[in-house]
Order: sequence, then C-alpha cells, then structure tokens
Amino acid sequence: MLTFTHRTLGQRVLFGENKSADYLLGEVNRLEARAIMLVAEASDRERATQLARHLPNASIYDRVVPHVPIEEAEKAREFAGVHGIDLLVSLGGGSATGLAKAVALTTGIPIVAIPTTYAGSEATNVWGITESARKTTGVDDRVLPVTVIYDVGLTYSLPVELSVASGLNALAHCVDSMWAPRTDPINQAMATEGIRALNTGLPAVKQDPLNREGRDQALYGAYLSAVAFSSAGSGLHHKICHVLGGAYNLPHAQTHAIVLPHVLAYLAPIAPEAQARIATAFGSPDAVTGLRRLREKLGAPAALADYGFDEAAIPEAARLILPAVPENTPREVTVADLEQLLRGAWAGTASMTEGATQ
Ligand code: NAD
Repeated sequence: MLTFTHRTLGQRVLFGENKSADYLLGEVNRLEARAIMLVAEASDRERATQLARHLPNASIYDRVVPHVPIEEAEKAREFAGVHGIDLLVSLGGGSATGLAKAVALTTGIPIVAIPTTYAGSEATNVWGITESARKTTGVDDRVLPVTVIYDVGLTYSLPVELSVASGLNALAHCVDSMWAPRTDPINQAMATEGIRALNTGLPAVKQDPLNREGRDQALYGAYLSAVAFSSAGSGLHHKICHVLGGAYNLPHAQTHAIVLPHVLAYLAPIAPEAQARIATAFGSPDAVTGLRRLREKLGAPAALADYGFDEAAIPEAARLILPAVPENTPREVTVADLEQLLRGAWAGTASMTEGATQ
C-alpha cells in the first residue's frame, strides 16, 4: 500500500542549447521586469555582459564568493535596494545562485536562474549563508527561482575535473534522495532517472567535454537530481558534506564526490529497496559496484586529504555531524561510525566501500 505526501515545487524550466539569451528576454518580458541585477562571478563577466546586452536596464553584480558569507549577502541586498531591482538573474554555479537566493530571502525579488554547473541549487527552495565559519541553511519558497534556463552551450567551458566533481554532486542528490527524510516514490523515480542520465552523460563528457549529448544528459540529470533532493530533503550524505563545507571550507562539489561512496557503502546494505533502485539505474549488480565503476571511468576525486582537510579534525567533524543525522536514516549512526567513514574519505581508501558488498 502506498501512502505518502508529495509536494512539487512550481517553476518554469526552459531547456535548449544556445537559447539562454532568447529565453531570458522572454522571461524578463513575461515578468515585466524593469531593473535587473545579473549576479555572476567576475570570471564570467564576458558572458554576463553578452546576456545583459539583450536586456533593459541590467546591472552586473560580480561579488560572488563560495558559500555566501553573510557580509557579502548584506552588500548584495543593499545593492538591490539602492538600484530598485525587481528581478534577479543568476548566471553561474551554486555560488552565484546562492548569492541571488540570499537577496531573494530578505527582499522577495524573483530569481531567474541560469546554471552553468550541475550543483542543482536552481531547482530548490533551500538557501545557505555562512557566518563565523558555520553555514546555516534554511527552506523558504521566496528563494526558489521562478524560472530555470538550462543552456548546455554554457556548460562546455566547465573543465572536465569540475564537470566530474559537480556531476557526482548531482549524483549524490539522487542517492541521498532514496533515504532522505521526505523520500517518496515520486522523488525516488526522479532520482532513478537522474542516476541513469548522469551515468550516461558524465563518462561522455569525461571523454570529450564538447560532446553535446553527454552535456545534455548531465544537465538534464542534474535538474532531476535537484528536484528529487528538494522534495526528499537532506539525507545523511548531505548533512556530512554540509558540516565539512561550512566548518572546514572544503570545495563543495569535490567534497560530495569524495564522501558519496563511503555513505553509499555504509547505508546501501541496510536499505535493500534503495540499493535495488540505485543498482538498476546504474545497470549494475549492486549500487556500490555501479558507483565504483562510474567513478573509475571518471577518475573521480578520492581523498579529502587532497583538498586540505586535516586528519586531526576528524573527531571534531564527527561530533558536529552527529546531531544533524536525520532520524529516518536507515541505520543507527554513532560518532565512531562517522569517524570511520570520515577516515575513509580523508584517506581515499576503498576498503569500506568494497567491504560493504562482500
Ligand atoms: P561554484 O558555483 O562555486 O563554481 C565552482 C567553480 O566553477 C567556480 O570557480 C566557477 O567560476 C566555475 N564555473 C562555474 N560554471 C562554469 C562554467 N560553465 N565554465 C567554467 N567554469 C565554471 O560551485 P558549485 O559546485 O556550482 O556550487 C557550490 C555552491 O552551491 C555551494 O555553496 C553549495 O552549498 C551550493 N549549493 C546549494 C544548493 C541549494 O539547494 N541551496 C544545492 C547545491 C549546491
């Protein structure tokens, strides 16, 4: 018997190669925007300038910093107020989207998001702001972009290594959606299709970053992953990565890519239904093997030690993560378990991963 409550978040999704300028103009007209704040990293100024050229009264705002420090959020809010902004457009990865969300959170100004990575923030109503080295996240429908414009033409420039890490971040959304607090058959179905698309697209992108079909599948999979994640909420994997990113300033996508096999190995044997869905999506005998095969094809990042995480911080990190572990996690989680998991992720050892399926 199926019993569940599912909420679908409402937004328009426009998908098409090299269509972002036309799509954006259409949205600006539809929303009758008069003063636009185009949020993009300084390194993306050329593309931002090209987009702004098509728009009435657009100001480019490029103070984009990873993990949205509160001081930067406040400066961006002030800019929006001073310039009478009535539409936010974010162009870039999760950092650009995150800054636009921080402005929308206190002002209610709508966002049109144009993502250029596979982070997926554009399809969620989750915001994140960092204050005193701790990242706070929250849920508020005001930060959900009203429209997402997916233009695969903007993703060819994403370097292969980042594409791989970001794509595995998306994959982590799918996997975590299988056992996250509000998991249900609808977001599990989207997560399953997301894994299939990412498992097809990412190896093609790795082989040839200009492969259109690979990029299409990766971007489509990233969207599905974010919709599933947004509906299901954060599971154990996201809680771990959230603490690591906020407290130790680790790069978001790579942290997800590294931690995922360890969480999967830890939970999959205890969650047979989820494990079967993930295995089917990978087309592999079991979930852990499916992820291992994909990671091997991609040459995925393996060790947190390579990204500046200090082994000595493991006990503290485990203590910080424990209170955040979702109640419905399929297995009871202890500090010792978390320490072991983090040690594996720190060293990049496959032992825990391989052992779990034996
Ligand atoms: P990011 O936005 O910081 O981008 C990573 C790097 O990629 C940057 O150096 C950027 O300049 C570069 N880049 C982005 N797109 C590019 C392109 N097409 N070509 C070349 N270079 C490109 O990182 P991210 O992984 O996209 O996002 C991470 C942030 O998003 C974190 O702060 C994370 O917490 C947040 N996030 C939030 C949610 C949510 O639902 N609120 C979901 C996922 C991620």
